[in-house]
Amino acid sequence: MKDYIIEHWAHGQTTLGGDKGDALSISVNNRAATRQAIINRVRQSGISFVERSDWAAHKSRSSRMHDDWNYNKIAIHHAGRSFTCGPAALQLQDIQNLQMGRGAAASDDIGYHYALDCFGNVFEGRDIRFKGESVHNYNTQVIGIVLLENLTNPGEGHDGVARITRLLNWIGLKKNPQVTEKQKLALTALIRILREFFYIGVLGGHREFPGQLGEGKICPGNAGLMLVGDLRKSTGLGAP
Ligand SMILES: [Zn+2]
Repeated sequence: MKDYIIEHWAHGQTTLGGDKGDALSISVNNRAATRQAIINRVRQSGISFVERSDWAAHKSRSSRMHDDWNYNKIAIHHAGRSFTCGPAALQLQDIQNLQMGRGAAASDDIGYHYALDCFGNVFEGRDIRFKGESVHNYNTQVIGIVLLENLTNPGEGHDGVARITRLLNWIGLKKNPQVTEKQKLALTALIRILREFFYIGVLGGHREFPGQLGEGKICPGNAGLMLVGDLRKSTGLGAP
């Protein structure tokens, strides 16, 4: 199960155990096996895991994407202020369309590696073998996980959207969001499993990473950040 040990070994032994080509092929195969082993571990722990092909993800522009590995940080996101708990496959398609269709600033795939719906199901985002695009200036060695709802409190954000949610709160139509128990359990399990494969030391909410822009300064909302704080306490992981 501890495939990552072989992975490190493969890199470390390039000069001792044969030629570079050997080590490289071990490393590449091993990453594919590790991706699958993570999926298997999530399923073994009683959580449903939906692979990219099963939520009808578009093909990534993988020729332009960069490999990444040896992850040491996890960044938690919420889907954004226009989202609510709902059908995750459709939400993921929307997010992928949005992120891949931003003109010059377009991403080559959905930016997050994993997504969790409110019912505690886990979805594969960007293949873990590729570097994510979820945190401005902090994507290298960072696993991005998105919670598929809005976790801001009404009025969070100091802009037009915030003014409307504050007003809705005032007239009783909007409440502080709550992370569901099922989602909390699934996220806790996913983090535990990822730590079996990677030497993770840091867990942060998106906006805790310095220098974030736009919605990144709000993400993952106050409720999301509270959850991240609780998880840091229970896991002993550090802040960014
Ligand atoms: Zn975010």
